[in-house]
Amino acid sequence: MSEATKLQKSLFNDKRNGWADLSEEKKNEIYNYCNSYMEFLNNGKTEREIVKESKNIADSNGFKNIEEVESLKPGDKVYYINKKKAMYLAVIGYDNIENGINVIGAHADSPRLDLKPNPLYEDDGFAFFKTQYYGGIKKYQWTTIPLAIHGVIVKKNGESVEVNIGENENDPVFVITDLLPHLAQEQMQRKLGDGIKGEELNILIGSIPYNDSEVSEKVKLNILNLLNKKYGIVEADFLSAELEIVPAFKARSLGFDESMIAAYGQDDKICVYTSLSALMNVQNPKTTAVCLIADKEEIGSMGNTGMQSNVFDTFISEILNKLGVNKPNMLDKVFCNSKMLSADVDAGFDPTFASVAEKNNASYLGRGIGLNKYTGGRGKGGSSDANAEFVAYIRNMLENNNLAYQIAELGKVDLGGGGTIAYILANKGMDVIDCGVPVLSMHAPYEVTSKFDVYTAFETYKTFFNL
Ligand code: MN
Ligand code: MN
Repeated sequence: MSEATKLQKSLFNDKRNGWADLSEEKKNEIYNYCNSYMEFLNNGKTEREIVKESKNIADSNGFKNIEEVESLKPGDKVYYINKKKAMYLAVIGYDNIENGINVIGAHADSPRLDLKPNPLYEDDGFAFFKTQYYGGIKKYQWTTIPLAIHGVIVKKNGESVEVNIGENENDPVFVITDLLPHLAQEQMQRKLGDGIKGEELNILIGSIPYNDSEVSEKVKLNILNLLNKKYGIVEADFLSAELEIVPAFKARSLGFDESMIAAYGQDDKICVYTSLSALMNVQNPKTTAVCLIADKEEIGSMGNTGMQSNVFDTFISEILNKLGVNKPNMLDKVFCNSKMLSADVDAGFDPTFASVAEKNNASYLGRGIGLNKYTGGRGKGGSSDANAEFVAYIRNMLENNNLAYQIAELGKVDLGGGGTIAYILANKGMDVIDCGVPVLSMHAPYEVTSKFDVYTAFETYKTFFNL
């Protein structure tokens, strides 16, 4: 080895492909873990389903609902479920909680289409559902793919009917049609963003008319009659429903080498699963370990299930109460002394669209967990921008534990940017850094990740909780 090679080895920041020197054993460990992750994705496509799945996992690992616990002591495991859509979990540490907690926060909601309050209509022999999209989507991607309907219809007497149709092999699916190329000359002149417009995202749901010569809207009547028999609902019940349209695809291994995962909703169920399963491995930590699963991230984190609500604060206050240590300003102090990984996906570098990335500051699939010191766009706008001291602390953790990582930006300067829940907890005084898995085709019906990064996220979160 020449002097220069040696010098380069000691001075350069070496960015390696994580698969390069992996043992077969480790590879199997990664593949097995990812099989469980893919099963988790298949069992939960909406925030309600993810919270339900997560509750099952927590219950079987000895966690208890904090409302059913009188007092808390180190080693105890509790959770709180917020309106069936968000969830906060904690393992109590033996250190004085005033010294802070270790938080990992992800979100369970993903971009999708929601049914409008008055969704059902008939048009020229077909019945359709009107939709409103949820979060940032490229609308054209949602046409001509199999769709499933998940959610709840709450009748005015409070009875809740669960809907999940399109996932089972024997279920029918639903679809948004698109124009044949032969007649699409005008449509093809539209800009890509308008290729399919919001009011064109109409879901095809039926075509048989009710057998009667008197009534109008016979196809609509036939569909309502079927829905009445299946779910016991009438048209007005759609007014108090939350029905979400999601791709009917299953999560699959991707590539001849099966090194990647293609699935819907990996933003950000990937970080829900990796942080949740990390917390399940935590026993008697020094610092109280908290995992939070937020809702509404994709539309600005507002509302009582979004991260901007005070419900998470109330959960931590309840922990302080039940530990018997609460006093004025205690919660503020705990937050000021706390550390957080904002676990959300990162934009992976895509060679086909290389021009949007700055190669030295991009996240690459297969190189480990992706950290963002700041997100935001156009001059770090809206970003909480992690402090150098905290980044150093996290780097130290990652490097001491041989965890592959990369610190990157979300695309080229002035090209875009993004937001996560990081700033909301940073505003409370916590040290926060974005720390998640790089994704290709983010927000598309089928998103791509690397199994190596998924497993590295799990290992990173486990290490953080045990600091
Ligand atoms: Mn996200
Ligand atoms: Mn997102």
